[in-house]
This record gives sequence, C-alpha cells and structure tokens, in this order.
Amino acid sequence: MPTDSLTLTGGEPGKLSLLGMPATSLIEFFETLDEKPYRAQQIMRWLYQRHVTDYGAMTDLSAALRKQLAGMTTLALAPVLRREHGADGTRKWLLDVGAGQAVETVYIPEPNRGTLCISSQAGCALDCAFCATGHQGFNRNLSAAEILGQVVLAAREIAPAEITNVVFMGMGEPLANYRNVLPVVRLLIDDQAYGLSRRRVTISTAGLVPQILKLSDDCNVALAVSLHAPTDELRDRLVPINRRHPIAELLDACWVYAAGQPSRQITFEYVLLDGVNDSVVQARQLVKLLRNRPAKVNLIPFNAFPESGFRCSLQPAIDAFWQTLRDSGLIATIRRPRGDDIAAACGQLAGRVRDRQRVRLGDRVIGASSP
Ligand code: SAH
Repeated sequence: MPTDSLTLTGGEPGKLSLLGMPATSLIEFFETLDEKPYRAQQIMRWLYQRHVTDYGAMTDLSAALRKQLAGMTTLALAPVLRREHGADGTRKWLLDVGAGQAVETVYIPEPNRGTLCISSQAGCALDCAFCATGHQGFNRNLSAAEILGQVVLAAREIAPAEITNVVFMGMGEPLANYRNVLPVVRLLIDDQAYGLSRRRVTISTAGLVPQILKLSDDCNVALAVSLHAPTDELRDRLVPINRRHPIAELLDACWVYAAGQPSRQITFEYVLLDGVNDSVVQARQLVKLLRNRPAKVNLIPFNAFPESGFRCSLQPAIDAFWQTLRDSGLIATIRRPRGDDIAAACGQLAGRVRDRQRVRLGDRVIGASSP
C-alpha cells in the first residue's frame, strides 16, 4: 500500500485512509480482503460523487464489510475550526491538520462555475516576498487524504451548488508536494471520482522546473505559473526559487508543457505591486518574453496583509500595464479580488502555521555562498 495514503488526521492515528488513494491501490486493497475489484468503484462513488464519508451509510456494502473497513481504515476529514461566508458568496474553511497547524480552503461561486481553491502544504518554503503563506514559513506536506478531503468537505457543504473547477492556489507549493498532489489530480479527472476535464484542474506553481516537466508526462492538466517579474534581477527578489530556476529555464519548461496540451495556453500570474513591477517598461519586457507563445497573462492586484511591505498598484498603473500587454497582442485579464472581506483572496491564506523548522528556501539561498 503506498504510504501516500497514510494519514494521521481526524483522531484516528495509524489507520489507513482510503481517501485520496489511487483507484489501482484501492482495488489491490480490496483484493487483500478477498473482495471483488468493483468494491473500489463503490467506495469511490460514495466518497467522490455522493460526498459520503460514513461507512454506516454505504448501503450497497455488506454490514460485515462495513464493520471490517471501519475497524481497519479511516475516511476522516480534517476537523473544521472555522467557516466564513463572504459578501460575494465566497466561502472559506479553516481546517485543523493537527499539531497546531491549520490550512484553508476557499470556494468561489461565479455565474457559470464554482471554483474550489485548495491547499497542498501547511505553510510554504518558497518564501515569495509578497505572500502571506510564505511569511509563515513551512511546516509539512499535506497527505493525499488531507488534500482531497478538502474537496469532499466543500462539495458536501456547498451542495446543491457544484464544484466545476479546482485550482491548487491555496496554501503551499503543489509541485513541492508532488507525490501527494499527483494522485489527487488523477482522481479529480477520473470519471469514477470527480470526472472534471483536464482544463478545469489547475496547478499553480512558483516555478519548480523539474516537476513541471514531470507533470507534463504524468498528468497534463492546466498550468499556471507565478511569474510576477520580467527580469531575473527582480524575480530573484520576489520569487526566490528563481535563483535556482531562472526565467529562461522556466519558460523553456513551460513551452514543453504547452506542447503536450494542444490548443491550450499556460497562464502566467503577475501580481501588481506599486512601484516594484508595474511600469510600462516592465510590461514591454513581459511582452518580449511571452509574445507569440501559447501564453496568457492574469494580472492580480496585490492583496495586502499586515507587514507585507508592499502596496497594490494604483488603478491607472494597472490599466496602463494591461493596455500595453493587449496592444502587443497578448491575452491578458485582470483578476477581480474575491472574498477579500474574509481574507480569502490570493496570497491572504495564512491558516495557522507553526514554523518550527524555519526551513525557507529564501533563507537557504540567500545564505548560500553561490547562487
Ligand atoms: N505556490 C503556488 C500557489 C500560490 S497562490 C504558486 O506560487 O503559484 C496562487 C497565486 O497567488 C500565486 O500566483 C501567488 O504568487 C499569488 N499571490 C501570493 N500572494 C499574493 C498576494 N498577497 N496578492 C495577490 N496574489 C498573491
């Protein structure tokens, strides 16, 4: 049984969680119990299509099997510490993932879709200068059960509304937790689980090049890349992982990724910081990087949080930046902040991270003698 499926959440330490377990592993698991492979399908339907995590309610399984499963496995979801509703319909859950750590999940309803934004780590080690999660430091990777559990919980609580899109834009760097994120992504697009199309599942990354290339082979879903600066000099400061994988290397990986997704584009996220990265000159530099490529740009007005040290760009600067991109033929949109009244907007997700390890990429790279 893959250790990815093991979770210690929900007050049932040491029990195997069937949540987030790949279909093939579930089938193997039922084989070890001398049960037919279709039991895996039945469990998946209960979990991911009916949002049921109570074995007692799984009426197409025999009472004996239900008892056996309840004794040796768990479907426990992380306890909810707080639920918040924003004025625009945005909803946010604060989840207890044990040992004083908490992560956040956000649901954003729009007229024709419902997007769930999920977390992949408690904290984040990448230390991007403008991100509230990064400021808290890194504690640990979430298990596949903890990541997919966010989808099960939200799907249940928002019903009859539906989750049509899932974005890995909550806390953490999903590609730094690749082994647990990959099985979740596969279940999101598996018809026996959530059955979302690949275009509707988005991995957002600060730029972990080897993992971008790996994902391209393993499960080519939509990719968003947090670019935020048009030059290495600036990006080194804003997104420290750039010192390891500079812009040219990152973009090369993006074009390889895009080649595996006919007719689709990579989204480049660009947070607009007043006086830092929002000039027309910088917009032109960005154009040079992305013109005639399968790229679109999503401009994100900076969402402030205490002690960030940055301000959001002023509206005229936002408009001029956007116009410069558009005039050059680039597809560019401006992300409307959602849920900012409940601190659910991009980069405001801080959850609660006790950063005992103090392992942050920025610290390490800054401290290193060579870049
Ligand atoms: N680690 C992933 C997911 C992060 S959150 C990544 O880096 O892509 C999703 C997006 O929100 C990223 O583009 C991130 O850079 C951006 N973001 C972070 N802090 C922000 C803030 N305070 N205001 C606006 N966007 C922010």
